[in-house]
Amino acid sequence: MDMNQTTQKAYAKINLGLDVLRRREDGYHEVKMIMQTVDICDDLVFQRTARPGIRIETDNGELPTDQNNLIYKAADLLMRERGIAEGVRIMLTKRIPIAAGMAGGSSDAAATMRGLNRLFDMGYSTEDLQKLGVKLGADIPYCIVGGTMLSEGIGEILSPLPSPPDCYLVVAKPDINVSTRFVYENLHADSLTVHPDIDGMMEAIRAGSLQGMTDRLGNVLETVTIREYPVIEEIKETLRREGARNALMSGSGPTVFGIYADQDKAKQAALQIERRKMAKQVFVTTFQDNIDR
Ligand code: ATP
Repeated sequence: MDMNQTTQKAYAKINLGLDVLRRREDGYHEVKMIMQTVDICDDLVFQRTARPGIRIETDNGELPTDQNNLIYKAADLLMRERGIAEGVRIMLTKRIPIAAGMAGGSSDAAATMRGLNRLFDMGYSTEDLQKLGVKLGADIPYCIVGGTMLSEGIGEILSPLPSPPDCYLVVAKPDINVSTRFVYENLHADSLTVHPDIDGMMEAIRAGSLQGMTDRLGNVLETVTIREYPVIEEIKETLRREGARNALMSGSGPTVFGIYADQDKAKQAALQIERRKMAKQVFVTTFQDNIDR
């Protein structure tokens, strides 16, 4: 069957744990992170066009639609590799907060690779896509598959973990944009004294212990981002006061998430954050398994 259109969902991630082990000679940071997909997603539609070129349309007025969009970069990479003479039209419905520490751009790029692989019957394996994707961003190999993963190296060494126990999340993005580069440049990786217990968290996840997991939430990047934006700490405190087992900043921030055993408590906490205008975007959501694509 000749396929002219296909769709993909691009899911956001949070970091249940984020440790930085050292800064490498080449400026990259060696990380040890627990990545978790959450049920907040962008939608992408891909259409073949006779006219060559990559055209991007989006409902989000802030995003570039030219070669600066990661979707463009991902499409261009695959279409050049495979020497595709046709063109593609890509429509993005954006829901994942931007510059938020939720890998929205990386996830769109990963969804684009999956989508075009199918649309043009390119024949890449998942591993092929991951190897190509890391050229565009360290989080892209993870975003190709999603789910629960230990991520090491610069983010490209991935080990799957079982899904954590069911729970509810409040995800709150304050009205500030944080540059990932700024945060890493201001992190003094070699003088960090406190490190999250990533190994202990993996054990807790394997044992199915929500308490063991929430006791070990930790992110070394909080030191940099919270110093700059104290509202992040205020949101964490509010989420905890409103019944969260624990709360943490995701990635380089500024998005904060709280983990709840009870859905009603999560909804109440989200209302409080909204009423106090502490965040511009607030979601009540759940973890999302990796989808067998
Ligand atoms: P990460 O968790 O990987 O650091 P992030 O959530 O901090 O990601 P993104 O939303 O992925 O940050 O993107 C940050 C910047 O990348 C934005 O300033 C945006 O202009 C640019 N960008 C390019 N393409 C996209 C895209 N498809 N979606 C979101 N941002 C994009």
